[in-house]
Amino acid sequence: NTILYNDSFLAREQGKVDMEDRGYQFGDGIYEALRVYNGKMFLLDLHMKRLERSARELRLSLPYDTDHLVENLDKLIRDNQMDYGYIYFQITRGAIARKHRFPLEKIDCVLTGSIEATTKDEDLYPDGIKVSLLDDIRWLRCDIKTLNLLGNVLANQEAFEKGSADAILHRDGVVTEGTTCNAFMVKDGILITHPADHFILNGITRIFVLQLAERLGIPVEERTYTTDELLHADEVFLTSTGERVAPVIQIDEQLIGNGVPGPISKRLLDAFNGEVERFISD
Ligand code: PMP
Repeated sequence: NTILYNDSFLAREQGKVDMEDRGYQFGDGIYEALRVYNGKMFLLDLHMKRLERSARELRLSLPYDTDHLVENLDKLIRDNQMDYGYIYFQITRGAIARKHRFPLEKIDCVLTGSIEATTKDEDLYPDGIKVSLLDDIRWLRCDIKTLNLLGNVLANQEAFEKGSADAILHRDGVVTEGTTCNAFMVKDGILITHPADHFILNGITRIFVLQLAERLGIPVEERTYTTDELLHADEVFLTSTGERVAPVIQIDEQLIGNGVPGPISKRLLDAFNGEVERFISD
């Protein structure tokens, strides 16, 4: 198993982190995770744009441009002979004696990337999942894809302990998103999802599903909605790089709709799967 370490390729065992790396000490860094189908990176441009935005928001300069990063990620796929799976990569502000403020001298940021091989359709839940509704205790810049994920980790763990696949989070009764995914609801044929502001991560899958909805003629409203609206929705689903479109059939004790995946969720998942198949054979 080969990993990417800055501009080099190493065996996994050689990928070591400095104890004073700011990513390790403060979560001072950013990341991306994307899916590989048939040896190719899916929705690559959108992921790279989001990475550049995250870097700008944290005033973190990338070690090299995204074109070169894409070349390296391609090489990582080939070196590992991976056809299907995930690539995860992150960039921290680098290692230096611990101080909260940014270092005065220029230090090198640290980029690491690794792969996880899976099957083509791994992590999909076409039959639907149960989730829990939990408080969103995260900070107010959820739009940046940073390494600081404790609010997500704690909620995801609590959901797991409740026998749920994930949590849908809310701030004072306003639904934001999942711990690893975006949340959508359907009411009277209208697809509703939280606007892409600083309360949510603008998921690449969210963007793609909104495009699919437009193409399918499904009306969309990007607006906030309450937990009460969520619990009385006709359909609810989650979107993420891993799950694509995951219908939610139960939230805690409450069944959603008839407790089976709804028609709009199914249409979007089918359309998504069709796009993946097209991408594979292109
Ligand atoms: N929200 C959060 C909090 C996430 O961690 C993720 C997954 N990275 C998403 C949404 C979905 O983003 P994407 O569709 O880009 O995987």
